[in-house]
Amino acid sequence: MFPLILGVITTYKCPLQCEHCCFDCGPHRTGVIDAEKVKKVIDLLSSMTSIKCVAFTGGEPLLLGSTLYELIAHAVGRGLRTRVVTSAYWGNSVQQKQKTIDKLLSAGLHELNISTGDFHKQFVPVDQVCEVAFASALAGIYTMIAVEHHPDSEINKEFIVQKIKNIAGETKLSKPIRVLENILVPTDLEYLENKTLPSNTETRKEYGCKNICINLSLLPTGEVYACCGLTIQKIPDLKLGNLDDLLANKNERELENFLFNNLLHLWLAIDGPEIMARFVEKESGVKILDEKMEHRCHQCLAMFSSPNTREILNGLASQEKTRILLNFFQQQDFYSKNIL
Ligand code: SF4
Ligand code: SF4
Repeated sequence: MFPLILGVITTYKCPLQCEHCCFDCGPHRTGVIDAEKVKKVIDLLSSMTSIKCVAFTGGEPLLLGSTLYELIAHAVGRGLRTRVVTSAYWGNSVQQKQKTIDKLLSAGLHELNISTGDFHKQFVPVDQVCEVAFASALAGIYTMIAVEHHPDSEINKEFIVQKIKNIAGETKLSKPIRVLENILVPTDLEYLENKTLPSNTETRKEYGCKNICINLSLLPTGEVYACCGLTIQKIPDLKLGNLDDLLANKNERELENFLFNNLLHLWLAIDGPEIMARFVEKESGVKILDEKMEHRCHQCLAMFSSPNTREILNGLASQEKTRILLNFFQQQDFYSKNIL
């Protein structure tokens, strides 16, 4: 049973303050997630679902200090893979860099994902990112650098790859560093009005959302969301409840009811927001889909922000209920056997 990945947004606090940050993170934010409840959620999901991985993100998860290492060790103790997503702000001295990598390794961390790009580089030099990535990979941690990408980017994949090559010299890494370019995803639709964003046909295909119900998200506020889409904070329809609601489920049937009782979530999983938005457009006469919105999470946000969406979708979902349920549980079975 889904989810396969638990995303723990540990805090919105971050030493950086990137202009495009999807969660408006920064030094001004306060509050961290309740770590003891997260451990209980990990126990619950690892005993009743097909969960494979826990991803600790933020904000900046390394700000949690020893609590982060405890959470990683707890998830590893339940047989799960672990991932930390960071800006590598902490690697500004050789000692601090190595000390942190050693602690992550001792906790059992499997993957370190480092974010960089034109916005991040104002706060964390790209050289520092590459040095941290190299130290992490050398320690045997799967390491990935995610580069934020837009048409005018100075920092791109080739630039990072060349820097890593320069640092590595003749050293052979047992686990190569992966470098990926990520589409820039600000969550504010008004922000998009003034920006030229990249054309990314991959994100515009019309198929089921490969995130909802598969990736469960815990927020620092204690809220639980059905996906880890970057616009979730603006889509209350994707909220499942809070940590206590999740922990109140005592058996698989109760948990299944909690996770999958919203037909719109299952519909998103099998058809995706574009197809659903077309239904809403047809019924309401209001245009939703917008060529300017290159990421499907923007289409999803636009759809749920549109007047009468819920009524229209709920009506259609009732008519389509059998197809949605059948396809969703077939999809779940396939993913559980073939992913990760
Ligand atoms: S490093 Fe990440 S979490 Fe922090 S402000 Fe930048 S985009 Fe947001
Ligand atoms: S498209 Fe919608 S459901 Fe899918 S990840 Fe994005 S916000 Fe979540």
